[in-house]
Amino acid sequence: MHTKASTPIEHDDAGIRHELVEAQLPCLLASLAYLTGNLALLRDDLKADPLLANEEQGGLTAEQQAEIRALALHTLVKFRDGGNVQAPTPAPDVIHRIMEHAVGQPVALEYLGLMKEELSVTGLDLRAPTWTKDELAPQRDFTVAIVGAGMSGLVAAHRLQQAGVPFVILEKNHDVGGTWLENTYPGCRVDVPNHVYSYSFAQRADWPLHFSTQDVLLDYFQRCATEFGLRDNIRFNTRVVNASWDEHTATWSIDIEDRNGPAILTAHALVSAVGQLNRPNIPAISGQERFGGPSFHSAQWRHDVDLTGKRVAVIGTGASALQFVPVIAADVAHLDLFQRTPNWMFPVPHYHESVPAGLQWLFGHVPSYAQWYRFWLFWRGAEGILPACAVDPEWPDLSQSVSQLNKDLRDLLAMYLEVMYAERPDLIQKCVPQYPPASKRIVLDNGSWPLALMRDNVDVIVDGISHITETAVVTTDGIEHPADVIIYATGFTPSKFLTPMTMAGRNGIDLHQQWDGDARAYLGVTIPNFPNFFCLYGPNTNIVVNGSIVYFSECEVHYVVDAIKTLLTTNSGSLEVRSDVHDEFNVTVDAANQRMAWGVATVNTWYQNEHGRVAQNWPFSLLEFWQRTRAVNVDDYHFEPLGTTV
Ligand code: NAP
Repeated sequence: MHTKASTPIEHDDAGIRHELVEAQLPCLLASLAYLTGNLALLRDDLKADPLLANEEQGGLTAEQQAEIRALALHTLVKFRDGGNVQAPTPAPDVIHRIMEHAVGQPVALEYLGLMKEELSVTGLDLRAPTWTKDELAPQRDFTVAIVGAGMSGLVAAHRLQQAGVPFVILEKNHDVGGTWLENTYPGCRVDVPNHVYSYSFAQRADWPLHFSTQDVLLDYFQRCATEFGLRDNIRFNTRVVNASWDEHTATWSIDIEDRNGPAILTAHALVSAVGQLNRPNIPAISGQERFGGPSFHSAQWRHDVDLTGKRVAVIGTGASALQFVPVIAADVAHLDLFQRTPNWMFPVPHYHESVPAGLQWLFGHVPSYAQWYRFWLFWRGAEGILPACAVDPEWPDLSQSVSQLNKDLRDLLAMYLEVMYAERPDLIQKCVPQYPPASKRIVLDNGSWPLALMRDNVDVIVDGISHITETAVVTTDGIEHPADVIIYATGFTPSKFLTPMTMAGRNGIDLHQQWDGDARAYLGVTIPNFPNFFCLYGPNTNIVVNGSIVYFSECEVHYVVDAIKTLLTTNSGSLEVRSDVHDEFNVTVDAANQRMAWGVATVNTWYQNEHGRVAQNWPFSLLEFWQRTRAVNVDDYHFEPLGTTV
């Protein structure tokens, strides 16, 4: 899965010109400057307009596009004729200049280090540990147990393997893939562009789609597990029931259940990689057990149930429903969609499209182009839209928008919905949200959702659900909506971190009692009273509008690996985050979340827990998360020397 070497260019000039028609231009000049060292390519008049970054071709005019294509043709012809030889890797200040040109705006110098890792433009894995256990503590017995073989667990395993730290992954399913193994509903696909929703150390230039379908992603993660040699250390069909910290041995005692029944394992460190969106939420609705037909959750899709010609009730209109309703709507006799809250949607015309052949050719033949494309996507999605989510303290009414920028975004998104539903004023009424954008996740749409909702055989029902009978869903207005099948697209239980497993930390302290429904951690990773325990995708590490969650997992794993290195180099048996450090961090995070649309929103959202606290989201920049997870600050932790507790 490592970045493949580019194939030499053999096209004639006309062939290259042809491929350039489909190029994404704002990042093409960047790759050409990087490739040739010719900085004259970075002309001021060919910079993207940062305000139009999310437009096609970054808002470049037709003239600018033509000029870039001409320059690119000239450069690639010369590159080909020179034997496809790359210039030496540019110096950091040159890379910085190239970055700024690609996005058409100043890029703070701090991003350089982040981007060098994230892009891996040299093909080097710059996040790989620079140490091994054999060098640091060859005699020391130290093993790590990782719970979960999804996207995060695999990163942790890969990094530990690189550092020569023994590990085992405990996985409840029969294979790797986590959410991409479990969610098989029709239309399931990632809604973050694949060139960024992928590991920095296993970039793929040849993604077939901009937004891969579930099978493609599952294949990617499964191949990563195989090619990085992780499978031998995964115990499949193994459920973790409980983990208890043993102070005498400074180990975690882990109760598992596998095909042979219950067993106990021990490990010196425990890493949770169980995800946030894993346990299906099926709301309790009066009478639902009496329903006579099949009913199932979107994450537990019943492929044995043929929906053709059936009356189907879909409860919920979140990200999952958004993907499967347009697929099934044409086959069912009738679809009743029970909507509690409509979504704001970003129009993304190419959401379901293949990566065009010309772009694929460039990825395959122009060295570093795929990585610069990743950079361009990263930057557009990264900090770009955060300012539009921030609350203006002077803003008079927070019910519909939270600042001028947020209102501008709202107006744009509302216009999209009004245009899409122009023929159906009833749907404008039902489907234009009445809350500020970014209070909830903004979903992507290429027109397929509005088209599905406007079908003759689809009804959008906004009255609340009163109860379910043997044959129908009944709304609070007393109307019976007959159904043969009910599909719950009602999301997950993200606030119930680490359930249903139980955990006992120092002095037997119960994790869920300590949290009392309000999960918190330091940097989303470490928790007071739980030594040598690390969460990936833990509390307050979710993102709303910016970036890819894979990036967060890689940062978190970097931090965990540094914590393990610290244990080994300081000859410590355990480390445990200081309560004051943890508490202070959470105060800062809470205050920052209160300054974001999702913090002040009164709309239903899974970002807020039962206490009304935003326990999910990281309110700061991606850069800040990277900076804070570079290395463990030893002053943040209590350390127990090795052997003192035995
Ligand atoms: P979700 O976004 O939480 O949506 C759940 C839906 O069910 C909402 O419309 C919710 O209404 C509704 N609902 C919940 N309880 C209800 C009840 N008692 N009565 C009526 N309606 C009820 O869940 P999801 O669609 O599965 O997505 C969850 C998250 O998973 C997403 O935000 C995203 O992060 C991730 N996801 C990603 C992808 C992707 O990348 N392709 C795909 C699917 C999911 P309210 O809005 O009123 O609460």
